[in-house]
Amino acid sequence: MVTTFEELLQHWDGEQVVIHRDQPSDSWIFICMHSTRLGPAAGGTRMKVYDTPADGLLDAMRLSAGMTSKLAVADLGLGGGKAVLAVQRIPHGEDRRRLLHRYGDMVASLGGNFITSSDVNTGVDDMDVIAERTEHVFGRSEAAGGAGDPGPFTARGVFHGIKATLTHAFGSDELAGRTVLVQGAGSVGAALAQLLGEGGATVLVADIDADRARAVATAAGGATVEPEAALELECDVYAPCALGATLSAATVPRLRCRIVAGSANNQLAQPEAAELLRDAGILYAPDYVINAGGIIHLASFEMLGEDEAKRDLRVQGIATTLARVFVIADAERISTGAAAERLVRERLEAAA
Ligand code: NAD
Repeated sequence: MVTTFEELLQHWDGEQVVIHRDQPSDSWIFICMHSTRLGPAAGGTRMKVYDTPADGLLDAMRLSAGMTSKLAVADLGLGGGKAVLAVQRIPHGEDRRRLLHRYGDMVASLGGNFITSSDVNTGVDDMDVIAERTEHVFGRSEAAGGAGDPGPFTARGVFHGIKATLTHAFGSDELAGRTVLVQGAGSVGAALAQLLGEGGATVLVADIDADRARAVATAAGGATVEPEAALELECDVYAPCALGATLSAATVPRLRCRIVAGSANNQLAQPEAAELLRDAGILYAPDYVINAGGIIHLASFEMLGEDEAKRDLRVQGIATTLARVFVIADAERISTGAAAERLVRERLEAAA
């Protein structure tokens, strides 16, 4: 069954969608503003080839709802949004630049109700190009006056979050004697592995790019593991920092860890996977709570005009928020996923 734009829009619980057919590039541009209740809708710009334009719209809708949750918990005075550039092929050079300019004009036309940043297939350089057309963009290069790559700050947030999970599970946040498996040695995973190694943890790294895994493991004083063996590896903390949807009815029974805490977005293949983790005695740090360090860094510098000390306090605050989620989950006998959703609802209702 082919889903149409009309069907998707009818069933969406968000506020506004802007749809643009970009004739010169044969692409579709979708900007979804899921919620502006707490402030302007903020979210990355994903550039991707989809099977159908409707798949791109659906992705933007889902991702923007996730941003509402992430930003409600991060308490930055921002709502949730997301943009998708559904392209026929990833453009380069002048074609890419022109597409980003036309997209930047669209963002500008929204008058600050939507603020964007980088996402899959877009980076700091692209934010610089978009910023030639609109001021409503986070994550420009430092040379262009922006806050740069958010990845290392996402890693810092995950690092603080892992310490909060250790405190809850073991009564101490001591890393020495703990084994952490970092799945994905990219922008976030590499920085996280480094922090964990420096903190005294035994670090194991899995990546489909064997050279990258080796380099990151070596820098962290750790070792590599085969990517296929990652899920079933015995460890204290499994930190998914590659793909989403690694936690499902099929995979949770195979896990041999005490804690799941990593940066990947949408780790739960189904919301019920959070219950399965709870039943298995595995402490799960909800992804949108623990992976907010990057957007905190960007908003702190570029929107709130804060200094490094204030920014660092906010990133560290992820540990406090997680501790609160764990307390709610224990008190109410619900999963940590459900507890985080409760926190989101509380924040949104308080602002209503
Ligand atoms: P990245 O593209 O820099 O790195 C991803 C890494 O995962 C790559 O090295 C890739 O080879 C590896 N990988 C892919 N499939 C794998 C598999 N099956 N097994 C093992 N490794 C695999 O991405 P990133 O910026 O480091 O982000 C990692 C995750 O965190 C993504 O899910 C992203 O959406 C999420 N996230 C990132 C940020 C950020 O600030 N960059 C913020 C929030 C969430």
